[in-house]
Amino acid sequence: MEIADLPVPPDLAAGYARRGITELYPPQAACVEAGLFSGKNLLVAIPTASGKTLVAEMAMHHQVARGGKCLYIVPLRALASEKFEEFSGKGLRVGIATGDFDRRDEYLGRNDIIVATSEKVDSLLRNRTPWLAEISLLVVDEVHLIDDPSRGATVEMVIAKLRHKNPGMQIIALSATIGNPADLAGWLDAELVESEWRPVDLREGVFFEDGIRFADSVREVERKSKYEDLDLVLDTVTEGGQCLVFVSSRKNAEAFAKRAASGLKIANPILAGYADKIRSSASTDMGKILAACVAQGAAFHHAGLSREERQLVEAGFREGQIKVISSTPTLAAGLNLPARRVIVRDYLRFNAGEGMMPIPVREYRQMAGRAGRPRLDPYGEAVLIAKSEEMVDELFDYYIEAMAEDVRSRCAEEAVLCTHILSLIATGFARERGEVLGFMDGTFYAHQGESPRALKRAVDRVLEFLREAEMITEVGEWLEATEYGSLVSRLYIDPRSAEVIVNAMTRQKEYTDIGFLHLLCATPDMPTLFVRKNDMYALDRFLADHRDELWMEIPWDADEGFDRSLKTALLLADWGDEVGEDVICERYSVGPGDVYGMVESVAWLVHASRHLAGLFAPHLKAPIEEMELRTKHGIKKELLPLIRIRGIGRVRARRLFNNGIDSIEALREAGPEKVGKVLGQGIAAQVFEQLDGVRDEIGGVGEEQSTLSRFG
Ligand code: ADP
Repeated sequence: MEIADLPVPPDLAAGYARRGITELYPPQAACVEAGLFSGKNLLVAIPTASGKTLVAEMAMHHQVARGGKCLYIVPLRALASEKFEEFSGKGLRVGIATGDFDRRDEYLGRNDIIVATSEKVDSLLRNRTPWLAEISLLVVDEVHLIDDPSRGATVEMVIAKLRHKNPGMQIIALSATIGNPADLAGWLDAELVESEWRPVDLREGVFFEDGIRFADSVREVERKSKYEDLDLVLDTVTEGGQCLVFVSSRKNAEAFAKRAASGLKIANPILAGYADKIRSSASTDMGKILAACVAQGAAFHHAGLSREERQLVEAGFREGQIKVISSTPTLAAGLNLPARRVIVRDYLRFNAGEGMMPIPVREYRQMAGRAGRPRLDPYGEAVLIAKSEEMVDELFDYYIEAMAEDVRSRCAEEAVLCTHILSLIATGFARERGEVLGFMDGTFYAHQGESPRALKRAVDRVLEFLREAEMITEVGEWLEATEYGSLVSRLYIDPRSAEVIVNAMTRQKEYTDIGFLHLLCATPDMPTLFVRKNDMYALDRFLADHRDELWMEIPWDADEGFDRSLKTALLLADWGDEVGEDVICERYSVGPGDVYGMVESVAWLVHASRHLAGLFAPHLKAPIEEMELRTKHGIKKELLPLIRIRGIGRVRARRLFNNGIDSIEALREAGPEKVGKVLGQGIAAQVFEQLDGVRDEIGGVGEEQSTLSRFG
C-alpha cells in the first residue's frame, strides 16, 4: 500500500518519502484496512520497530486536517520528549506535558497534538482542564502497561475517564505482543491488528559452550576468553555489528562494560571525544568509569546516569562508535537503540519476597525486539546464555517458543482505587456510590469479569476511608469532596500520603528540616533508598543525636521501611545543605540520576504539604515554603534571597554569598562591576536588568517557578 494514496496531508507524505518511506509495512496496511482513517478504534499489537508510531502519526495528521485534536499518552517522561521531537516540525503544533501535577496548562490546548504521560493526563483531568473535552483522537502508547503494578491503574483510569468524557473519540492503542489482545481490544471496542511481522528478520537462539543454537541451525562462536558474554560481543563486533547486553543490576551493567572495554580495546579520536565530554561533566566515580569504558568502545546505561551521560552514550552508539552497551532491563521499554545482537544475559531477577525469579516473557520479547537495525543489519539476533545442555531446551521452551503473558487490570487494589475514587468524586465524574460503581463498570477490570462483588467491597472500603479522613462527605446519597479532598485530588498525591502528612503536621508544634523530610519519605508516594547492613551504624548514630527532631514516633518494632525513609531523608537533607553531588552519590551509593529523581519526588510532596499546611497547620506554612525553594534548588537557607533571580542557581548563588553578597540589597550595593567579577559580565548584566523588579525579601513560591532547576 502506497503512502501517496492515503488520506494524509501531502506534506507529511512528502516528508516520509524524503526518508525513503513510501510504502506501508504489512501491519501498517492492516491498520488502514481495519479503519485507521474512518474513525475506528484500533488495538495495534505488533512487535517493536514494526512501525506503530508511524501509524499513529498518520492518523493524527488525518484528524487534525479535519479539525480534530489529538492526545498521545506515553508511559515515561523520557519517551514523551522522544515523541515530542519526532512529531515536531511536520506542520502541526505539538505540545508536551509532563511537569507539575496541579496545573491546568490551558495554553497546551492551543496545540494540535499534545504528548503527555498518563499521570499528567490524570492530573489534567482532576484539574478540569477544558481542552480535554476537545480531544478527538487518543493514542495510548505501550498500552500493555495497564498491567504494571505501580502505574497500570492510572493508564486504565485515564482511558476510562477520557472515554466517559468524549464518547465519540477515536482510540488507537499501541501494544507489544501480549497473550490476550482480543480481551483488551474488546474492552476498547477496537479492531485488533495483530502481527508477528518485523522489518528485519529476528533469529532467536541460546548460546552454550561454543555456539548459538537456533531452531534450525548452530552458529559457532570463537572462544577467546573464559567469558561467554564477552565472546558473544566480540563475535558480533568482528563482523561489523553492535551489541546490547541486558543484565540484572546496575552493578552488573558497570562490571560488564569494563569487561567489554578491556576485551574490545578500540581507540580512536571520536571515542576519545565522547569520553572527554563524559569525563568533564562527571561528578562521580561512576561517570569516570563510564568515560574510561567509552574511550575503548563500551558503555553502560541505567537510571543512575545523569541526562548528559545518557545522551552521550546513546549518541555514541547511534553513530556506531560505541560497540556495546550493557543495560538494566528497565531500559528495554524506553530505549530506541537497535543493535545487531541483543544478549539477554541475566533472565533471573530479584523480586522482593520471592527471591530470584525469571523475568516475564513479555520483557524478554521487548529486549529481543531491539535486535536488528532496519536497513543497516541483514538480520537481528537475540541470544540467551545457558549454563548447561538441559538449560538450552528449557530456555527455548520458557522464552523463545512461549506465548507472551496476558495483560490483567490492576484496578482492584485498594491502594490505587483510593486515589482514583477520590478524583472521580472531586471532579464530579461520580456523584453517588452507584455512579462510582457505574464508572468502574466501564473499566478493563470489569470487562475482564473479575468478581464484581470483590470490586463492590473494595469500593465500599475506600469510600469508608475517604469519609473517615473527611475527604468526602455524604449529603443524603450524594457524595461530595470536601475542601481537603478536592485539594488532595488536585495536588495529585495519594490520599494515604495526605493523611500521614496532615496527621503529623497538626500535632507538630515546631518545624525541623529532618522531621519534615522524614515525614515525607514515610508516605507511600515517596520512593525510598535500599538500606544496606553497613548503613545501620550511621542511621543509629543519627537517631541517637536527633531523635527529638523527628515528627513521627519511632515504632518499637521499627522495620526496614523506617530505615529506608530515614536514609532517604538524610540524602535529601544533604542535598538541601549543598553537599556536593559526588559526595552524596558516594555516601548513599546512588548515581546522579537517582538523586535527581528523589529530589523531584520530594519536591512535589513539599509543594503539596505547603498547600495542606495552608488548610491545617498555618504555623508550618512559612518554613515549608522555604523548604520548597531549598529542595528545588538544593541550597541552604542563607541563599534564598539570591535564588529568586533568573539565571542564578545553586552554584552562582553560593559564589555570590561566599563573596559577601548575600541579598538583593547587597547585590545593588556591590554594583555590576564587582558582581561581574564573580559571575562574569554577561550574567551580571542580566542580573541587574532584573533587579528593579525584585523586592528585598524572601518571596513566595511563584507557580511559574515550580519547575525543578538544579543547574546554577
Ligand atoms: P515502533 O513504534 O513500532 O517501535 P516506529 O514507528 O518507530 O516503530 O518505526 C521504526 C522505524 O521504522 C522508524 O525509524 C521508522 O521511521 C521506520 N518505518 C516505519 N514505517 C516504515 C515504512 N513503512 N517503511 C520504511 N520505514 C518505516
